[in-house]
Amino acid sequence: MPLRDIIGHRRLTTLMSRAIDRGSLPPTLLFAGPSGVGKWRVAQAAAQAVNCLEPVRDADGLPFDACGRCRSCDRIARGVHVDVIALEPDDRASIKIDVVRDVLSRTGYRPFEGKLRVVLIREADTLETAAQNSLLKNLEEPPPGTVFILTTAVPGVLLSTVRSRCMRLRFGRLTAAEVALALVRDHGQSERDATEAAPLSDGSIGQALSLSDLDIGGLRDLAMRLLQQTAGRADTQSRLQAATSVVAGLSKKEERTDLAAVLRLAASMLRDIEALNSGADQRVLANPLLTDDLSTLARSFAGDRARLAFGAVDRALTALERNAGTKVVAEWLAVQL
Ligand SMILES: [Zn+2]
Repeated sequence: MPLRDIIGHRRLTTLMSRAIDRGSLPPTLLFAGPSGVGKWRVAQAAAQAVNCLEPVRDADGLPFDACGRCRSCDRIARGVHVDVIALEPDDRASIKIDVVRDVLSRTGYRPFEGKLRVVLIREADTLETAAQNSLLKNLEEPPPGTVFILTTAVPGVLLSTVRSRCMRLRFGRLTAAEVALALVRDHGQSERDATEAAPLSDGSIGQALSLSDLDIGGLRDLAMRLLQQTAGRADTQSRLQAATSVVAGLSKKEERTDLAAVLRLAASMLRDIEALNSGADQRVLANPLLTDDLSTLARSFAGDRARLAFGAVDRALTALERNAGTKVVAEWLAVQL
């Protein structure tokens, strides 16, 4: 996929395109950022752009990009280009030193068919320590004609010697609209399913895809009812009842996963409410299907309340991740909102 087709990360894809255009791409790059936001795709797109046989100029605002169709682009997309080497974790979630040594033994030669040899290392944090050490010399003095691109969601796990030898690009989370777009375009989801899943995704396409087993419509109703039942400054008794009905609506087998989803949905609704209260355009809402209900709620959550409620939901999520009971978390939150 060419750089211009990457969803989101426009600043970074522009930066890469410019560097490739000028021939000033740093030979050692570290793409750091949450998992599932597209770091690997950008790495592959960069490999295509540097090796494309018919590069495109000034495409969609990018000075230089791959065509996406030539023999080289096609081979890179299929993972069979001799000069674009992708290292990915094995089924034990690790990249072994033997594999790295084998790749490094090939970087001593000029690229065979490409302009640049590109070594892509996915989830570089899974490189064994010995494998990282064996890479060091190459990262320090990259062989001529070779570029290394490492991707990771947890750069802190890499040896500091590896980190310090790479130029780091920070990838942020995608907006809900970008996640929805990716789900429809690249993963065949319907507009409706995508729009429902996106607010739960925490800005990660990967996370959105992992939600496909959840009854998102049902969980969204639970989140909405929780906000509605606590909106009118209800007394403690009715707040606790609201919590009870949330817990009763969760699937018994996946209670924790379901409640976490309800909390994330409530958080994204509160963010929308804050946006509405600050006069933002309705088109920026993460939950466009709920605009009417959210506008009604916005009056009750005026002033600081939406922001404070958002903070409470965030703390409830943290408590849930630390294994607090679902009932306790739901009740605590219902009282705080
Ligand atoms: Zn091409």
